Amino acid sequence: MTADIIDGKAFASNLKENIAHKVAHLKENYKLVPGLAVVLVGEDPASQVYVRNKNKSTLAAGMNSYEHLMNDDVSEADLIAKVEELNNDPKVHGILVQLPLPKHINEAAVIESIAPEKDVDGFHVINSGLMATGGKGMVPCTPLGCIMMLKDKLGNLSGLDAVVVGRSNIVGKPMAQLLLNESCTVTIAHSRTKNLAEVVGRSDIVVAAVGVPELVKGDWIKEGATVIDVGINRIEKEDGKTKLVGDVDFEEASKRAGAITPVPGGVGPMTIAVLLANTVTAACRQAGVDEPLNC
Ligand code: NDP
Repeated sequence: MTADIIDGKAFASNLKENIAHKVAHLKENYKLVPGLAVVLVGEDPASQVYVRNKNKSTLAAGMNSYEHLMNDDVSEADLIAKVEELNNDPKVHGILVQLPLPKHINEAAVIESIAPEKDVDGFHVINSGLMATGGKGMVPCTPLGCIMMLKDKLGNLSGLDAVVVGRSNIVGKPMAQLLLNESCTVTIAHSRTKNLAEVVGRSDIVVAAVGVPELVKGDWIKEGATVIDVGINRIEKEDGKTKLVGDVDFEEASKRAGAITPVPGGVGPMTIAVLLANTVTAACRQAGVDEPLNC
């Protein structure tokens, strides 16, 4: 068997097109322009690239983008004051504080200072709680993007056996919760899991969010399973150059899986597209107009 490749780039591009149409509709009918504010602390090069891309994509969708750059010696109180200013700004519908933050700042305190209805990353405990209890909160972008691709590929996920490898608050746990909400039978695996190969081998859906290059081996995968690889790892090749690989051995896994996301070009591009979708959803909810996108 050779797996279907789930093209996250194409999926994200379609989603961005839908978002741009919806934004145009909101402008025309409600004079509503969704606005996303991104706060970047310090000059971490990877974070700067992410923020630049988010800004470009937000503007391309016809939305307002506000960038707030702060020095890496900013105090926690000043950062929280900036978040509160954005909480009170009616032009800003979504707030994202780029992580990681410098060590002297308590990330949880900053995340909890974001108004839950503007928390487009979906990391606020109120939003985690709403997701866990079937409420209508903001859902973390990467797991939501994974669910969208899974539903597009498989349709109804009800009753399927799913494993999520990784239990971080930003990917693994919300991913497992979303799969449970789709009525999958969910196993969460982590660094203490015994016999990971066996757990993966009985799963119809495998989501790998670990951060260990090619941890999930091809021969662990159940024939025909759907594999979503969240991992982004830069490794050095024999010629000294570097390349990106996921948490799954793509070459071997694609011989057994029914469908699989590549790295790069799988989950990665979906994350920004879903961030824009979340911002549109947040803007609609705050303005009390119909909710646009089914995500
Ligand atoms: P974390 O480091 O926060 O979490 C990693 C998880 O993997 C932990 O729960 C850890 O278990 C588990 N783990 C580590 N080693 C093993 C092992 N040998 N066997 C089983 N489980 C293991 O990472 P994140 O969740 O933040 O990110 C995971 C990956 O996803 C990274 O590569 C990251 O770059 C990528 N990522 C990609 C995004 C995208 O847009 N595509 C967005 C966000 C992340 P334990 O809890 O026991 O320590």
